[in-house]
Amino acid sequence: MARSAGMCEVMRPGCVMRGSEIHHRMTRGMGSAKVSGINEASNGLLLCHACHRWITEHPKSSYERGWAVRRNAVLLSPADVEVWWRSSKWLLLDDDGGFEVVSSTKPAAVFPLSRKVSA
Ligand SMILES: [Zn+2]
Repeated sequence: MARSAGMCEVMRPGCVMRGSEIHHRMTRGMGSAKVSGINEASNGLLLCHACHRWITEHPKSSYERGWAVRRNAVLLSPADVEVWWRSSKWLLLDDDGGFEVVSSTKPAAVFPLSRKVSA
């Protein structure tokens, strides 16, 4: 993906930087063909294996940072959910591989949590 330039897009502490795995923020699930954006660039993050594993093991924290998008509440498109990107800024990802920097609507208290080393 052009947006990532081959580097991990999450960059948690412990990140190994080199992007090697595509993570789907919203999973396909069953009977979900109608959910918009599943196959769009806005739903994919290029991750290193360390960050990908952390996201898989910490779903709650990942939802708070937009690294994962819930599919069971409102029918949101991943393009509508901000991502805490490379520990530096909130982005809205578009479906063409681009992005927009947004001033976050999320509480600042979310940030210190992202520095916590996984148990
Ligand atoms: Zn990483």
